[in-house]
Amino acid sequence: MTRRLLIAGNWKMNLNLATALELAEAVKKEAGSVTKLDVAVCPPSVYVQPVAAALKGTCIGVGAQNAYFEKEGAYTGEISMGMLKDVGCQYVILGHSERRHILHESSEDVNVKVLAALAIGLTPIVCVGELLKEREAGMTELVVQRQFDGSFSGVSDADMKKCVIAYEPVWAIGTGKVATPDQAEEVHAAIRKMMTKRYSKDAAETVRIQYGGSVNDQNAREILAKPNVDGALVGGASLKIASFMGIINGGH
Ligand code: PEP
Repeated sequence: MTRRLLIAGNWKMNLNLATALELAEAVKKEAGSVTKLDVAVCPPSVYVQPVAAALKGTCIGVGAQNAYFEKEGAYTGEISMGMLKDVGCQYVILGHSERRHILHESSEDVNVKVLAALAIGLTPIVCVGELLKEREAGMTELVVQRQFDGSFSGVSDADMKKCVIAYEPVWAIGTGKVATPDQAEEVHAAIRKMMTKRYSKDAAETVRIQYGGSVNDQNAREILAKPNVDGALVGGASLKIASFMGIINGGH
């Protein structure tokens, strides 16, 4: 099966309103007519609405970097999935390693968010990935399996098909230490195998698995050429239009 690649830029807690809009306009200009793959940008939550408005009517998707699972109410400081949808968001990154490790989000926390995103019609991009010490201890698959099982608990076969998974080895995020294409492929294939144990073959074949971790315009082509790598979740290199476009152009 050929899956359409998804290249998504995670802007993290960077930029301001002016520079976010400038980057959105540049992505629109440079990637607005890309048809061979899907492109999305994920600005900080306060800039989701203006960026979505700037990209309205284009094929570039907009995602958030997190949201809360409750629909509404007394949850000071939180933003609901419905609010994101309301302002033009299509994707939401959930369980990013910075949220798992800095903000101590568990797979159970991620799970309720995945269910809430699916219920409202947002596409969750669910991040999984091991720490360096876990890889060195030969625990990569076990860690990813636990994160996968926990994060997708109660997700139906039909809903699983709507999800995106991002394999992001924590030791490769923002460190410049990219996984080799073979290391990425090995874990991506293992994740697809994990899916076949709980879901239909069709679902396992449909779900896109992005790689994330120091992807740039120099290494993207080789990683994206691997059969189970269906795109990239890009942090640092998505903040500069030249490197983001280099990655997009590296997609088959
Ligand atoms: C990320 O934030 O998801 C990420 C992969 O960051 P970077 O590309 O900077 O390693």
